[in-house]
Amino acid sequence: MNNQLPSSLQEIQALYPYQFSNPVLGVDVAKGWMPVFAQLCTDIDNLLGADKFGFHWSQIKEKYGSARFYYRFQGRKSGTRLDIHTPNGVWSQHIPAERRIRTERDKTFQEIDQAVLKLTMAAEVATQRMCLVCGQPGVADTELGYVMVLCPGHKAQRRQPSGLPRDFWENLKG
Ligand SMILES: [Zn+2]
Repeated sequence: MNNQLPSSLQEIQALYPYQFSNPVLGVDVAKGWMPVFAQLCTDIDNLLGADKFGFHWSQIKEKYGSARFYYRFQGRKSGTRLDIHTPNGVWSQHIPAERRIRTERDKTFQEIDQAVLKLTMAAEVATQRMCLVCGQPGVADTELGYVMVLCPGHKAQRRQPSGLPRDFWENLKG
């Protein structure tokens, strides 16, 4: 199953174009995160089923070395998230949107909204331990100023005069 996942942002976009229909603030995905992001997009697509509820990524970026995946449902108010910063990382808490269930579709939407947030947060947590460059197990490299999660090999490479490869980001601009 895993080996059929798309391996670049362009391939993911080609498979699920609606998820990238309106990136508001830009989509920046480190190459190391690509398997996690491809799985996330696939899981969300399966979860949504036929009715996509206008789901799309509004912003994907890096913060403190790991990924933040922000999304919207067009024309719907989804729950919001609260990021709590602790010395051990960031915890996200889901604050549900005001509940006003009128139809079966509203109920379905609220369940999907919760499930999407759960998938998204799990993917973010996974990137806290993945090398930005290659996706191998990594830890936050905090010694050189800008925090980056790196494997031992890329941590060492960061300290070489040549530095890290420059092309480990893929982006779509909003
Ligand atoms: Zn690496």
